[in-house]
Amino acid sequence: MSTPRPISRVLQAHTQQEGGGFVVRRPFPAPGLAQIDPFLLLDEMGPVEYGPGEAVGAPDHPHRGFETVTYALEGDWEHEDSAGHRGHLGPGDVQWMTAGAGVVHSELPARRIREEGGRVHGFQIWVNLPRQDKMMAPRYQEIPSSLLPERASDDGLARVRLLAGEALGGKAVIETRTPVLLHDWTLLPGARVEVPVPPEFQVFAYVFGGSVLAGPEAREVRNGQAALFGPGDAVTLSVLKEAGGPARLLLLGGVPLREPVARYGPFVMNSSEEIHQAIVDFQAGRLGAIER
Ligand code: FE
Repeated sequence: MSTPRPISRVLQAHTQQEGGGFVVRRPFPAPGLAQIDPFLLLDEMGPVEYGPGEAVGAPDHPHRGFETVTYALEGDWEHEDSAGHRGHLGPGDVQWMTAGAGVVHSELPARRIREEGGRVHGFQIWVNLPRQDKMMAPRYQEIPSSLLPERASDDGLARVRLLAGEALGGKAVIETRTPVLLHDWTLLPGARVEVPVPPEFQVFAYVFGGSVLAGPEAREVRNGQAALFGPGDAVTLSVLKEAGGPARLLLLGGVPLREPVARYGPFVMNSSEEIHQAIVDFQAGRLGAIER
């Protein structure tokens, strides 16, 4: 018998400007909720329709002490960094970047979208690193859409793309430093799934399309809301048969690190001394620069 996790809290995402001025929907961090350990941030970028010359991104900026996960749904991004790495993200692609000791990073809509305009939609998620990994060498995992495992329920009403973790008999190919799950679910009207989640995980869902009923009480969680789950070993998700369209949601979970978090912009360490060191190292050029 599984124990479905109850919803402990529902959060409304706020909108905010980031990077060079692009608008995100952000359920957290927010006043009163600095993190959902081990997750530090969730940003939904767009969906936005840019005209020619309008598209903006996040030009050169540093990171240290955590991981950034970029998941593209629509549009194209160009990523480059001080480790000499250049990547291109199209619809369905994932970049899981472990900043570790530090990189300077640039994330921009592709030149074609910057020049001609176009539609952009995606996510950026920050995953904290445990103390012993904060200064590890930077690492990249780029998974093109074609290699991202996708599974469907027997009735075909629920589909999942597995960025991290397991569901419906599938297993993600990305390696995480600590146990993490990150699923992209599409639930058609009438869908019902029970997703096993290890009891030691902290779990939440972020709805970015339609409306989902979650938890044993089948509480409605709407587009732009995040639901935090309480203790248990499964998450139940369903969509009313009468719903006007599918629900889209990210399901995220991980083992909480339970370590002190010292956070200053793009640096996330365990103490203010380590933050100070990160700033000194960045200003001295020790996080490198992007060669162009
Ligand atoms: Fe970045």
